[in-house]
Amino acid sequence: MKISIVGTGYVGLVTGTCFADTGVNVTCVDIDEKKISNLKKGIVPIYEPGLETMIKNNVDKGRLHFTTNLKESLDQAEVIFIAVGTPPGEDGSADLSHVLAVAREVGKNINHSIVVVTKSTVPIGTAEKVRAAVKGEIEARGVDVPFNVASNPEFLKEGNAIDDFLKPDRIVVGTDSEEAEKVIRRLYKPFLLNNHPILFMDIPSAELTKYAANSMLATKISFMNDIANLCELVGADVNMVRKGIGSDSRIGNKFIYPGIGYGGSCFPKDVKAIIRTANTYNYPLRLLQAVEHINEDQKRIIAAKVKNYFQNEVKGKTFSVWGLSFKPHTDDMREAPAIIIIRELLEAGAKIKAYDPIAMDEAKKEFNNDIEYGQDPYDVLIDSDGLLLLTEWPEFRIPNYNVMKKLMTTKVVFDGRNIYDMHEMNENGFDYMGIGRASKE
Ligand code: NAD
Repeated sequence: MKISIVGTGYVGLVTGTCFADTGVNVTCVDIDEKKISNLKKGIVPIYEPGLETMIKNNVDKGRLHFTTNLKESLDQAEVIFIAVGTPPGEDGSADLSHVLAVAREVGKNINHSIVVVTKSTVPIGTAEKVRAAVKGEIEARGVDVPFNVASNPEFLKEGNAIDDFLKPDRIVVGTDSEEAEKVIRRLYKPFLLNNHPILFMDIPSAELTKYAANSMLATKISFMNDIANLCELVGADVNMVRKGIGSDSRIGNKFIYPGIGYGGSCFPKDVKAIIRTANTYNYPLRLLQAVEHINEDQKRIIAAKVKNYFQNEVKGKTFSVWGLSFKPHTDDMREAPAIIIIRELLEAGAKIKAYDPIAMDEAKKEFNNDIEYGQDPYDVLIDSDGLLLLTEWPEFRIPNYNVMKKLMTTKVVFDGRNIYDMHEMNENGFDYMGIGRASKE
């Protein structure tokens, strides 16, 4: 079987590599020439655990290819996946220009029956737009080439993407074509072992499922952040409350950790996009509007705690930041809460020294030389007026208090992810500020 994947980002590259690993002949396409020439040399443009080795294995076996030439990738392909970016447009709706540009390219170049699958996260109605774009170009050529469309939203999590793809909680496919269903089922068969389900449904339901899933997850986060803030006011400990509610099987204990707000390339844009879609039907999604507002405020909470601790005198102070990416195990800085927090402290006149195990190159694109970067976690603590823990990378979990004490001028830790124990911090001579918990015994 031969397939084409367009877009070699987090989704396209993982999808292509995982399909190639099952024996399928995969061509990955991107318009970014540098990305493709690097991939051809074995340089992987993103950090995703295990991906580099898996790419190398499949390239060596001759099953995984990279090109900028979409036409070439279509040769004998039975399926083409569109996995390009769908960034938020100015009004919050998903920008479909990349998706539709690919669809038009397919229409211009296809000469045999193919299934055009949208894997990017796209609003309801996009598969029909893709169908119209492909059809329009085929008709413009005065030929008749049969094709089908399908929607196959992706649920992988950055940082765990390969495992998620290989062992999916579910695969969702929307299509109105039995032929498309048959070929997609065959392609995904290796991932369905051990009862991983594939759910076929109508196209609008598949398209909405992705937004509903991300909105639900974002809602859980904002709910817990709201409760955490209330905990601080009433003297409760959100960790206790979290455990108390999470042991109710109707609620469950996953994804109810408070913190500094959700970020990344998906939740913020997808919540915005579904709100926008609903608005066009004159149905304001009030709950999700609140989810968004809470999240915007939550990203400012740590900077507010810092300012409060220093009674607004942060000008000239130096703060150390551990963790920059929007979550651990990824280099992705898109919409990372660290951006807002650091910018706010810089604007207040503070100096920032930051360390992240993987995301510093990406962070440099955002901050340039506005901040300093350290070689390791302790490097950035020299002469520090406070440590801000912003991403819960494993290597930050058990810090060396003695070294910290020697290096830091002011012994205070602002824990944006609640990974430290207040008692332990206090015992070791640190003031401690977490989220939704008392800051002193
Ligand atoms: P990304 O920005 O990492 O990669 C997109 C790639 O598409 C880029 O390499 C870009 O050069 C390429 N591209 C753009 N236009 C193109 C064109 N016309 N032809 C060929 N290539 C083109 O994006 P991503 O994070 O992989 O996300 C892709 C889609 O998947 C988005 O819709 C996103 O919402 C969705 N998604 C992302 C994740 C995630 O965790 N990143 C998870 C699930 C779904």
